Amino acid sequence: MTSHDEPGRDRDLGMDAPITRRDFLNGVSVAVGGSVAGGLFPGLAASAEAAPSAPQDSAGYYPPTLTGLRGSHVGSFETAHRLRNGDLWSQADKITNTGERYDLVVVGGGISGLAAAYFFRAQHKDARILILDNHDDFGGHAKRNEFQLGGKLALMNGGTYQIDSPRPYSAVADGLLGKLGIDPVALANKCAHRDFYPSLGLGRGVFFDKETFGADKLVVAGGGASWTQLLANSPLSPQAQRDIARVEEAKIDYLPGLSSEEKKSRLSQISYRDFLLNVAKVDPSVIAFYQARTHGEWGVGIDAVSALDVWAFDFPGFRGLDLKPGSAPHMGYTAAGYADGGSPTFHFPDGNASIARLLVRSLVPGSLPGRSAEDAVTARLDYSRLDDPASPVRIRLSSTAIRVRNLGDPASAAEVEIAYVRGGEFYVVRAGACVLACYNMMIPYLCPELPEPQKEALRYAVKVPLIYTSVALANWTSFKSLGISRVYSPGSYFSSFFLNSVVDIGDYHSPRSPDEPVLIQMTRTPVAPGLPERDQHRAGRLDILHTSFATFERNIRDQLTRILGPSGFDPARDITAITVNRWPHGYAYEYNPLFDPDWPEGAAPHVLGRARFGRIAIANSDAGAAAYTDSAIDQAHRAVQELLQN
Ligand SMILES: Cc1cc2nc3c(=O)[nH]c(=O)nc-3n(C[C@H](O)[C@H](O)[C@H](O)COP(=O)(O)OP(=O)(O)OC[C@H]3O[C@@H](n4cnc5c(N)ncnc54)[C@H](O)[C@@H]3O)c2cc1C
Repeated sequence: MTSHDEPGRDRDLGMDAPITRRDFLNGVSVAVGGSVAGGLFPGLAASAEAAPSAPQDSAGYYPPTLTGLRGSHVGSFETAHRLRNGDLWSQADKITNTGERYDLVVVGGGISGLAAAYFFRAQHKDARILILDNHDDFGGHAKRNEFQLGGKLALMNGGTYQIDSPRPYSAVADGLLGKLGIDPVALANKCAHRDFYPSLGLGRGVFFDKETFGADKLVVAGGGASWTQLLANSPLSPQAQRDIARVEEAKIDYLPGLSSEEKKSRLSQISYRDFLLNVAKVDPSVIAFYQARTHGEWGVGIDAVSALDVWAFDFPGFRGLDLKPGSAPHMGYTAAGYADGGSPTFHFPDGNASIARLLVRSLVPGSLPGRSAEDAVTARLDYSRLDDPASPVRIRLSSTAIRVRNLGDPASAAEVEIAYVRGGEFYVVRAGACVLACYNMMIPYLCPELPEPQKEALRYAVKVPLIYTSVALANWTSFKSLGISRVYSPGSYFSSFFLNSVVDIGDYHSPRSPDEPVLIQMTRTPVAPGLPERDQHRAGRLDILHTSFATFERNIRDQLTRILGPSGFDPARDITAITVNRWPHGYAYEYNPLFDPDWPEGAAPHVLGRARFGRIAIANSDAGAAAYTDSAIDQAHRAVQELLQN
């Protein structure tokens, strides 16, 4: 529920409290020199000139500590949107040829782009590489949120949370982690303390909000209470309580007479919502309770996720169906793959930003002090090294690629020309090859010369919008008194929040006392229930881009107050910083058996779309249609091999 701006209420919530809301680095505009350049683009002149220095080159540039609206921050997406709208090139009254010539240019500095640079250099030790990214920080979704709380470093993932995949990591992806010094199993055993909150007696809560359920009520699980006992404290009707208890606890075969395969086939074609309503036959008021349970993993509610998918995640209702382990029959790649054995999991305090930082350490000498994955967590990255002409790999931030083309016939071209915009100025560089590790649906705008069917395939996927918010609190005594470490809040603006995971790694130590400051993460998934999945994502993307920081902040304060207020939480006093990481283009799209055709092997859009085009190859997790780090790495490897073998 969106709370509204009422002056008295805003004061109580602390909307005027002095927290940092600084989301610009050295101002928004980037001062650049420029010159008239010639010959590369029709109607434009060009001459060689070195790329000018930019804010990232100056001492003190350190984006991880910025708060306010982050993720897709202001300044990162406007150029791309103008390119999409067709009104960008009319602003290009001059283009500066930087005169640079690289062996490889990578568009996109996420894990896939960084991994592509790594794999290229692994085979060409002297290669010179330029990585362009439109954000003011590298890493793509692998973003680090860094705070000083009570004089101590506190970290949270701004995007990707942990090493985790429904499949075992490939030899390539696992091998890269190994080269970076990351052993997820050993690190998890040594550094993760998943039992810490339970050891304090903290468990899960469910918050029923009055707008959805008729009354504000927090129900805390634990103490061995049955569902019937727990829900007795909720505002749900007696029928809804009975039905939820049945779905959660009873072992009933709701599809008698069918084999396991037949049941799975049926479940892959109906949503979990329809399963609950029409197969398990629950009261319609039960749906609101489960609606947001799928938000975090799938980016849509239970109306748009197949029952088979959620079975693999141990959702309730399937215990009596006796389904055999194994992935879904129709889709080659679904979350049901978990039943076949996933990857090990490990969460660095800044999530998979540590993987990105370790890649940068290996690519850019002197950028990140230290020698191990453990010491990297607290090491301060020197951003002024990233675009150093002396470095074999350069990472140029705040630079949006706007056109990538083979110079000459793609079949025989030896060079690629890459144009980008930085600080409102237009530049070109040249390279022997280019990996597009950016959002795949943007590629038709970058490479209009691509064959039409390939462009159509690339346009198919719509990335999943998500919001991860890092909120700094002065203490977590209210969590302790309520006996909760995480809350599922199905009707609220943020559908879940939780205390930061407890990890001790290198010199980094998580807080242990409820009196210490802590970070919590609040997640929101903007959805439009009832629409097909891709339409929901389009609507969610707009929602994100049109929501102000003040609206996010007001909802954070309101929701925390309604849940934690009764145990002493005061938003005006206890909230000390807020970083809203908005990802309008979040997870890679994974096909959905409810809405997408069952394409024959090799004919799915992401496979057709990622075909090499002359000296241009395509990576990113989108190219694997899988929203996981292993996909980002595997696709980088494939793209680089395509370039090196041709
Ligand atoms: C909120 C969130 C949580 C996630 N959690 C997990 C998790 O726990 N575990 C997991 O394995 N995966 C997770 N993922 C999936 C994650 O997307 C992948 O694991 C991986 O980080 C994707 O890397 P990538 O390089 O393919 O794409 P990205 O990280 O998206 O990187 C692509 C980069 O290219 C840039 N770019 C795009 N267009 C241009 C252009 N024209 N010019 C210059 N740059 C451009 C983008 O802005 C971006 O910085 C999560 C994703 C999100 C959004």
